Amino acid sequence: MRGRLPGRGDRPAHRTRARAGDFLRINAELTGDDRPSRPQARVPTLVRLGPTRTTLRVAVVGAGPAALFAADALLRQDGVQVTVFDRLPVPHGLARHGVAPDHVDTRRVAELFTAIENEPGFDYRLGVEVGRDITVAELAAHHHAVIYATGAGTDKPLPIPGTKLPGSMSATEVVAWYNGHPDHTATHVPLDSERAVIVGNGNVALDVARILATDPERLAATSIAPHALAALRGSRVREVVVLGRRGPQHAAFTLPELVGLAAREDIDLRVHAPEGIDVSAAPDRQTRLKLEYLAALPAANDSGAATGPDDSAGPGHSRRRIVLRFQASPWRSWEPPAPRAYGLCAPNCPLGTTTTTPRRPRPSRLPAPRSSSRRGWSWGRLATGDSPSGRAVRS
Ligand SMILES: Cc1cc2nc3c(=O)[nH]c(=O)nc-3n(C[C@H](O)[C@H](O)[C@H](O)COP(=O)(O)OP(=O)(O)OC[C@H]3O[C@@H](n4cnc5c(N)ncnc54)[C@H](O)[C@@H]3O)c2cc1C
Repeated sequence: MRGRLPGRGDRPAHRTRARAGDFLRINAELTGDDRPSRPQARVPTLVRLGPTRTTLRVAVVGAGPAALFAADALLRQDGVQVTVFDRLPVPHGLARHGVAPDHVDTRRVAELFTAIENEPGFDYRLGVEVGRDITVAELAAHHHAVIYATGAGTDKPLPIPGTKLPGSMSATEVVAWYNGHPDHTATHVPLDSERAVIVGNGNVALDVARILATDPERLAATSIAPHALAALRGSRVREVVVLGRRGPQHAAFTLPELVGLAAREDIDLRVHAPEGIDVSAAPDRQTRLKLEYLAALPAANDSGAATGPDDSAGPGHSRRRIVLRFQASPWRSWEPPAPRAYGLCAPNCPLGTTTTTPRRPRPSRLPAPRSSSRRGWSWGRLATGDSPSGRAVRS
């Protein structure tokens, strides 16, 4: 699906002219002569249905990109009617409620959806949940065929103790909140601490980090939900730390997203890779370019503070900071009296093990963190003064 929505693989919309050269240089490297010329996936030939006496009625469950592209393919056939059902009162699934509001180019896919919706034979039944408002049997009885395109709407819980403590929430919730998902208008995202931690370092993690670190006035021009914009205007978050359990060569975010983030003049992007960045360890050209790019970014030290000349960001400063922290995985979150101070990180998590396996016995109640230990990396050290890491997002 990612390949169908414009943006992720291209220059992100939030780029600036100043770093456009980065994209050109990287694209030139990636489109060299030895690039495979064969298509990666075979596109099947369109099979025309034979002449039918009755109209073929097809139900599509879900109104996200998969459903709409399926409807589009069906409506190219003669004599087909498509009814698209969605449990929500608005269509487009995660293209509306997932894609970040400042990814303006990607969100333009809605224009393509509008063209599909205007095709003869297309119809919506919104606000209808299959399995609750209508049964699968009823749907099958009234249609010749049913296509299920219900997506993956729930998150994968992080199975470590304490993730249900106040201040810890999933990226699914945060993203749905800032995108105005009807199920999440009442969701409370605590923004009353200076540091937020995001567990996981894929593109969704970068989306959430960027939204938290962006000047709200810049977001005001986007489709961000008004309640989220109001909350972000009062946010105390100055620094967002994005945790990756393995090294930079395993970072899950894509290079265009990284370049787009680094291009943001209003955000101070830092890298903290305790074991360094070994460009020669890259298994392929994409990864090598990503490592080279990461290696060229300013560094942050073990306390999260900038080690480069720019100290205009982070707690106590006007510019917000994002720190990409590698070789760090949380194994529990704190309980009161330090609520919302998030966990211990075990550096050097061996490849192939899960992030959730503690490397030492877990006491039932941990004291509040005081300093880093030899074996573990105390998250509390990243806290500034009396302001511990205030919220954790699991992406
Ligand atoms: C935070 C985030 C950012 C993303 N950013 C990008 C990006 O920049 N570029 C990109 O290419 N991709 C991006 N993606 C991925 C992209 O949004 C998804 O791959 C895509 O939306 C999946 O399409 P889908 O139709 O399979 O599912 P969905 O978009 O999830 O749609 C499924 C629909 O089914 C409905 N549904 C579920 N159950 C029922 C039921 N029982 N009855 C009726 N309706 C039901 C849901 O309400 C929903 O509308 C992002 C995803 C997330 C989460």
